[in-house]
Amino acid sequence: MERAPPAPIVGGSILKTPLVTTAAGRGAPGTAWARAGAGLRLLGAAVLAGLLAAGQATAREVAIGVFAWQGERAAIADWSPVIRDLNAALPEHRFRLDHYDAAGLRRAIAEHRVDLVITNPGYYVTMEAEFGLSRIATLAAPNVRSPDRAIGSVVIARADRADLPDLAALAGRRVAAVAPDAFGGWLIVAGELKRRGLDPESDLAVRFMGLPMNNIVDAVRRGDVDAGIVRTCLLEQLLDEEYVRPGDLRVVGARQEDGFPCATSTPLYPDWPIAVTRQTDPALAKAVARALLAMPDGQGLLSWTVPADYRPVHELYQGLGVGPYADLHRLTPEALARRFWPWLLGLVVLLIAGIVHTVRVEYQVHRRTAELRESLQARQLAEARMRENQEQMEHLSRLSVLGELSGSLAHEINQPLTTIGTYARSLLRRQDNRTLTPEALSQACTEIADEAERAGGIVQRIRHFARKRAAVREPVDLAAIAAEARRLVTGMLAHAPEIAIHDRSSPGRAVLADPQQIQQVLLNLVKNAIDAARGLPPARQAIEVDIEAAGSRVLVHVIDRGVGLDEAQRARLFEPFFTTKPDGLGLGLPICKTIIEAHGGRLWAEPNAGGAGMRFTFSLPCHELPA
Ligand code: ADP
Repeated sequence: MERAPPAPIVGGSILKTPLVTTAAGRGAPGTAWARAGAGLRLLGAAVLAGLLAAGQATAREVAIGVFAWQGERAAIADWSPVIRDLNAALPEHRFRLDHYDAAGLRRAIAEHRVDLVITNPGYYVTMEAEFGLSRIATLAAPNVRSPDRAIGSVVIARADRADLPDLAALAGRRVAAVAPDAFGGWLIVAGELKRRGLDPESDLAVRFMGLPMNNIVDAVRRGDVDAGIVRTCLLEQLLDEEYVRPGDLRVVGARQEDGFPCATSTPLYPDWPIAVTRQTDPALAKAVARALLAMPDGQGLLSWTVPADYRPVHELYQGLGVGPYADLHRLTPEALARRFWPWLLGLVVLLIAGIVHTVRVEYQVHRRTAELRESLQARQLAEARMRENQEQMEHLSRLSVLGELSGSLAHEINQPLTTIGTYARSLLRRQDNRTLTPEALSQACTEIADEAERAGGIVQRIRHFARKRAAVREPVDLAAIAAEARRLVTGMLAHAPEIAIHDRSSPGRAVLADPQQIQQVLLNLVKNAIDAARGLPPARQAIEVDIEAAGSRVLVHVIDRGVGLDEAQRARLFEPFFTTKPDGLGLGLPICKTIIEAHGGRLWAEPNAGGAGMRFTFSLPCHELPA
């Protein structure tokens, strides 16, 4: 809608003759006269150029951009007196009127094509924020008492529309307005509607019809719309011009404003300002301000007053979130929610799903942990019971070994007791015969004491072996344990075979074990070896216990020359209750195997490589002793 290029309306023309220099002036060859004439011409040209330059400097052109809200003709008619007065007051400047529509004025300011701007308060506050416009005076309309309350909006409807008593009644109606950014032609009413709790954008069916505002008046009269929004005083102007007849239209929500000559539906805002741009020469701004304020009031002329307070306009725009506050409006939570509600909804759903998932996982983890804890406790309980059973079984096994040996044990203990009895009786007899010498007494008592000690030793070892106790781990001397086992066997058996112990283990290494359990294993293996050779010639009854180091392990072999076992028997050797003995339990070897494996070792059996019989071997891990 911009009418380009804007035409200068008032003011004289400027002489813009270009300064021309001739070829002679640049020193062409010629006579002295000719040279003198050329010099004079040059001087004349210089003087003329100086005058022209001075003229140009004083009559500088000043562009005043005005917002032509009622079109070109009205703008010229309205503002020409101002241009004329300024040209008269400041003859050193040539003021020119450039009229624009809203977008054109904005562009002209952005491109620095105007020095002064006259526009409505709404566009002024917008461009004040955007381009740093600065008002130097506010229009003081002759028939308005206060320039601070000079512009409002009037909502018009056909006279027969009694159903539209006030602005609130516009809800749901078709309403004509100028443009979304029009100050008097929309925004002032929009602000009022908002103040009444209506959403001007969605609660009304607004039709923007642009300028001139007469279009809106026509649309209302035709009944195309229910109501129309125009600037205050337009209605009175159209009545004057007889464009509208009295009784055609009525004012919706008319309100009384003191000292204001026109009908209005809204509160009033300050009048139009004249403003300078950031690029305007401050001296010019000051001169123009002074000239405008000095212009006389009255006589129907436009006069100016000190710049009004445009805060109400700012507040209106802020409330509506338009102009300089458009971004602010866009960023309010409500605006964001309105714009992005599907996303927000999705986000909320996701969030809820996340929370539900987390709670579910938490619950499951909790339940699973409780289950695990329970099963762990059950397992620990079962393990404790198993350990107890194991210990019980080991104990029983030890008692069983003792049981098997107990027949001979009675005989063994009987022997020293008999010897003691014999010595005691011989002492009594000698005393009766009075042949008891001190030497004989001393010898008999020594024998009695030795025999008593021997019997005591046997009982001691048996008690120690049979004792019930929990497993331990301590450095053990395998050769010593083997010797102890041998002592126990020979102590308990009347005719114990020869048991040879060969210790070939490395001295710097130690086995961590439970000595009593290892002794039990050895005793079991030795007892089985004795059983296997029972009744065979004495040469085959001999047993060997070999201890040897093998890398990080110690191997203990129990070798016999007994009856041995065939392959099928060997395969079942470590099965519980496998026995070939009429009074056997078949638990000795399985228990031995469990004990050795609990020590991290292994127990196995193979035919004796050196001839008849079996060779039982167990391995135990050993550790380097600290130097
Ligand atoms: P038990 O001695 O009560 O039978 P063991 O588990 O100690 O229980 O032994 C199981 C069986 O293994 C014995 O009955 C015997 O047949 C066989 N056995 C064990 N050691 C030897 C051995 N050195 N020579 C031959 N057979 C053996």
